[in-house]
Amino acid sequence: MYVSELGELWHHARVEPAIAHLDSASAGRSSNAVIEAIGAHLWRESEHGSYVAADDRADEIARDRRDLASLIGHTSDELAFRESARAALRGLLTYWNLPIASTVWVATNEFGPNLVEFERRGYGVRPLPDSDVYGHVDTDALENMLQFDQPQFIHICHIGAMSGIVQPVAKIVEIAHNAGVPVVVDMAQAVGHVPTVTGADIVYGTSRKWLTGPRGVGFVAVRRDSLRPVQIESSEAFVAGRLGLGVAVAELLEIGQQRVFRELAAIGLATRERLHGIASWEVVEPLDEPSATVTLAPPPGWQPSDVLAARDKLRTLGILVTAADSWRAPLATEQSLLRISPHLDVQREDLDRLADALRTMGY
Ligand SMILES: *Cc1c(COP(=O)(O)O)cnc(C)c1O
Repeated sequence: MYVSELGELWHHARVEPAIAHLDSASAGRSSNAVIEAIGAHLWRESEHGSYVAADDRADEIARDRRDLASLIGHTSDELAFRESARAALRGLLTYWNLPIASTVWVATNEFGPNLVEFERRGYGVRPLPDSDVYGHVDTDALENMLQFDQPQFIHICHIGAMSGIVQPVAKIVEIAHNAGVPVVVDMAQAVGHVPTVTGADIVYGTSRKWLTGPRGVGFVAVRRDSLRPVQIESSEAFVAGRLGLGVAVAELLEIGQQRVFRELAAIGLATRERLHGIASWEVVEPLDEPSATVTLAPPPGWQPSDVLAARDKLRTLGILVTAADSWRAPLATEQSLLRISPHLDVQREDLDRLADALRTMGY
């Protein structure tokens, strides 16, 4: 039995999974139509020549750009493609003429590799205070801080890689703009998962996670007056992959993005309720956090290697989840967590099996 009323629709658009796939935060399952679109373009490249094949698809490519741009609150001329979210961030920081000794303010769920990008460029990084134990940004404190000091930009992971906490991005943008500070949003875990039209100046993300497009396609969108995104785009491109992403976005828009976001939030709630209090595993998020990423803190005394072993054990039982080490969110935690990220096709039995397995590993 599906957890979501959209489960059957989502399931039937895809091949039968060989495992209980609870790992969309690493890479979601592409639909058959996405895979077919990629394959079809590869055939056309071989038949007609790759550049001709791309030219022949110009209308489709333009429509795909408009669709993705609308989903993330930008226009298609503000969009540039790269091969990953991280490459998009690197491209952005390379072409954005920020002063030496720039400062950036981040939330405590900041993705570790992003911090590395900031630090290697010599930026001063300042973590924003949390408003609660879960790590939501304290927007009152932010407003206060901005009266005394303004960073070059604020960088927010809308959802981080180590918890399902959803940052109040629209509110942060409003407050930052009142102080004339631009906001950059890492939406790698948010796009296709929660509403992403926030008014942010620059956003970037990836195809393969909640959008369930192919691997190897990332994007960045830059508000027109900031810098020219065309500089960020690499001239060489995985055109077939972009067309596949276009199909994934079209499928999402056809179901209705708000409906998908609502159902994913319902799945997050059902998953947390199901896993809450199993042995001594603890759900890290509030049960009703509006996302489908669920993280579990292991029983007391567990080391990162124990969490890895639990991940491997689950894999042998046919259940795919992530062992999330602290490098993913070094400002938030030193602990390793188990990350469960079901998509719309999750079944109650998948969660029951996971719960049973955790119970035997939990003491
Ligand atoms: C996965 C992830 C990234 C990196 O995305 P890539 O496409 O692998 O470069 C960045 N930020 C967050 C929060 C992520 O979860």
